[in-house]
Amino acid sequence: MNSYDVIILGGGAAGLMCAAEAAGRGRKVVVLEIASRPGPKILVSGGGRCNFTNLHAKPIDYVSSNPAFIPFALSKYRPKDFIALVKAKKIAYHEKKDGQLFCDKSAKAIVGLLVDRAMEKGAELLKEQNTQEVSHSDGIFTVKTKDSVFAAPHLVVATGGLSWPQLGATDLGYRIAQQFGLKIIEPSPALVGLTFPELEMTRFDGLSGIHLQVGVTTGKWNMVEDIMITHKGLSGPVILNASLHWNPGQEIIVNWVPELTVDSTLQQLKKDKAAGGRGEFRVWLSERIPKRLAERLAYHAGAKGAWAELSAAQMKTLAETIHAYRFVPADTFGYKQAEVTRGGVDTRELDRETMECRKVPGLFFIGEVMDVTGKLGGFNFQWAWATGWTAGQAV
Ligand SMILES: Cc1cc2nc3c(=O)[nH]c(=O)nc-3n(C[C@H](O)[C@H](O)[C@H](O)COP(=O)(O)OP(=O)(O)OC[C@H]3O[C@@H](n4cnc5c(N)ncnc54)[C@H](O)[C@@H]3O)c2cc1C
Repeated sequence: MNSYDVIILGGGAAGLMCAAEAAGRGRKVVVLEIASRPGPKILVSGGGRCNFTNLHAKPIDYVSSNPAFIPFALSKYRPKDFIALVKAKKIAYHEKKDGQLFCDKSAKAIVGLLVDRAMEKGAELLKEQNTQEVSHSDGIFTVKTKDSVFAAPHLVVATGGLSWPQLGATDLGYRIAQQFGLKIIEPSPALVGLTFPELEMTRFDGLSGIHLQVGVTTGKWNMVEDIMITHKGLSGPVILNASLHWNPGQEIIVNWVPELTVDSTLQQLKKDKAAGGRGEFRVWLSERIPKRLAERLAYHAGAKGAWAELSAAQMKTLAETIHAYRFVPADTFGYKQAEVTRGGVDTRELDRETMECRKVPGLFFIGEVMDVTGKLGGFNFQWAWATGWTAGQAV
């Protein structure tokens, strides 16, 4: 039996942050990581350059069934706190846009920072540790792996979400939550592409690779950003962000020319028609969006010939096709391509000032395993740092 003050399951972003903080407070800490190296997701993040925080991270940048939980941790550990660690390690970084901070060179530097910090403060990091059983009695948690048994009065679950199973993501965190009778908000893939239903599969066939700035609405949420047409659906930042707010069966509305609206285009078309305009919609649209896409949209809207020949109903169909293209995605691209998992351990089960479970003292959940998911742009790492730090002060 190996006795510790704190056992942390998962040596990713949140787990390593928590390990350094707890060990820095004199706790005897062990991190049990299933993969052969720590921080596998950090290594692939931000296209290998890790978008490690966002200068403007605020509670409103996150989705959760319990938004009131979010502000505390974010206010205690801010982007500037993590930036201070990055600067102290002399890791070169830059702002790409909108407060998104990336390493100049490689995400490896961030993993190095986290591991070095945890080690320097005395935490142990054990790799290839596949947890087989967790039990709890007399205030002590016991974790059995294939070769060893670990015991501690504090167990921190930092196993992340289900996305990218190819990097070793597991559902251990959710299973532990269930074992202890905690509520889980149904997990689903998020920050992920959305697949076309059959009709759009045909309509957008052969347009893969086209990207442009569009407006996307789903429910009450909307955003103007880049979209990418792929062979199986839509992707790109605006769709990844939309996937955070989208639920199966819900409509997605695309405005292919976001600087204009159905009404403004309709008025323009009517005005041109009244003036005897000979312009073709296909041409008008090609001046605003990529030509191949413009021609396809015009074709599907039935816009053949000059404006002067179009009926009022045809004009309306045209304007709606361009500014309010509606479809119901068949699905998401799935966990294999999702950057994060939406849902997770219900934060109502946790104390927002410590991340400790209300029903089970000594049990903590941090990072992506919880039902708090950030939008694209460094917000998810900031949540991992903030919750890892917060639990690190409490264990
Ligand atoms: C391709 C990709 C790119 C991304 N890019 C960004 C980005 O640029 N910026 C951003 O903010 N977010 C990004 N994210 C999201 C970000 O990586 C996560 O939100 C963040 O890592 C969550 O931190 P975490 O510590 O909760 O989980 P993780 O960092 O995933 O850590 C969980 C750890 O637990 C381990 N583990 C899992 N199961 C077990 C088990 N049974 N036993 C022991 N250990 C286990 C895992 O191997 C992993 O090391 C990206 C995600 C992906 C997939």
